[in-house]
Amino acid sequence: MLAMNYRGPYRVRAAEKAEPRIEHPNDAIVRVTRSCICGSDLHLYHGLVPDTRIGSTFGHEFAGVVEEVGPNVATLKRGDRIVVPFNIACGTCFYCQKGLTSLCDRANTACALMGGAFGYSHTTGGYEGGQAEYVRVPYADTGPMVVPPEMDTEDVLFLSDILPTGYQAAEMGEIKPGETVCVFGAGPVGLFTAKSAWLMGAGRVIVVDGVDYRLDFVRGYANVETVNYSDAGGKDIVGRLRQMTDGRGPDVCIDAVGCEASGSFMHKMLGMMKLQAGAATALEWAIQSVRRGGNVVAIGVYGPPFNLVPIGDLMNKGLTLRGAQCNVKRYLPRLLEHIREGRIDTKGIITHRGPLDAAPDFYEIFARKQDNCIKCVLYPNAA
Ligand code: NAD
Ligand code: ZN
Ligand code: ZN
Repeated sequence: MLAMNYRGPYRVRAAEKAEPRIEHPNDAIVRVTRSCICGSDLHLYHGLVPDTRIGSTFGHEFAGVVEEVGPNVATLKRGDRIVVPFNIACGTCFYCQKGLTSLCDRANTACALMGGAFGYSHTTGGYEGGQAEYVRVPYADTGPMVVPPEMDTEDVLFLSDILPTGYQAAEMGEIKPGETVCVFGAGPVGLFTAKSAWLMGAGRVIVVDGVDYRLDFVRGYANVETVNYSDAGGKDIVGRLRQMTDGRGPDVCIDAVGCEASGSFMHKMLGMMKLQAGAATALEWAIQSVRRGGNVVAIGVYGPPFNLVPIGDLMNKGLTLRGAQCNVKRYLPRLLEHIREGRIDTKGIITHRGPLDAAPDFYEIFARKQDNCIKCVLYPNAA
């Protein structure tokens, strides 16, 4: 089959690879019809995630059609159209029983911090990803959701990750009615976080980014106020946000940027010297600008090792200050309703669609924020 193939930092291509097969009675094989590129994939692409092996296939946001099921799979059958959460989770362990599928005890024996994920290095279990014609889905009764027949696959595609992630970020912010929420990052995750903040009763939503076309987009898409941190003089962004909020700062600040933030020379230098993994600028700004007694949420990804402050642990283990990988599954029924009722136009953020062969171009365009790119969707097996 054809699959996206990682060749080292900044190098990906589409190449032939053996088709996956059932390895366990609970597996399903899925023919992938849609597969997205996520901001999280950029951390892999840039070589920032440890143990990202050459030849591996990325892709944790996908939908498709069930091709084959193992003998123990009870809820899926060949021909079902499904969307698949990025988490790989057993469904029965201590964490899974609490709905915390991102923290599954069984699906990722390689790392004690977090559960499994598709196409996200051997630190999340070494599973192959869905930017491929076919993918193996372990614990197939736990994650996948059958798409209601009347709904278009692209309407529900982002239930695999970024919509629940944005929603959970806003939820973890414990927004009280009328409060001011500041979202750092106007990428797909930031867009859905901003939308969700409104759904949870925010009185004001401000989005911060350094890329004008993205700020223009989010103003139209989510009806928010925006600040370009470059215009605010970089390090003065904290003062600017206080000035906009009666001198106190926003009630809730959400980092939807993660470990590759721009905007701080100091963070960039520490990152280049490998004293931290990337740059934690947005988290620093979030902590500095939130009002006293406010809530900070880290939903942008930070890698497990290397950070001077173990913010990767904070983020991946879901500790206080509210950080987490999204527990996708538990949000699906509620978000499906929001989509159905037209409160969130999910596919309206897709700017680029193409075959698997387009992966090298799409990675580059998305990473460099070129061509007004917001979200790229690959069509591995479009039929
Ligand atoms: P993206 O790259 O499209 O968007 C990131 C945005 O942040 C860009 O528009 C960039 O210009 C902006 N930015 C850079 N530095 C900034 C700064 N200092 N302040 C404000 N904005 C800044 O990525 P995305 O797909 O939106 O993902 C965002 C983050 O969310 C990534 O770290 C991704 O890994 C993470 N993520 C986490 C989860 C989870 O479960 N926790 C799930 C999906 C994605
Ligand atoms: Zn993702
Ligand atoms: Zn589990």
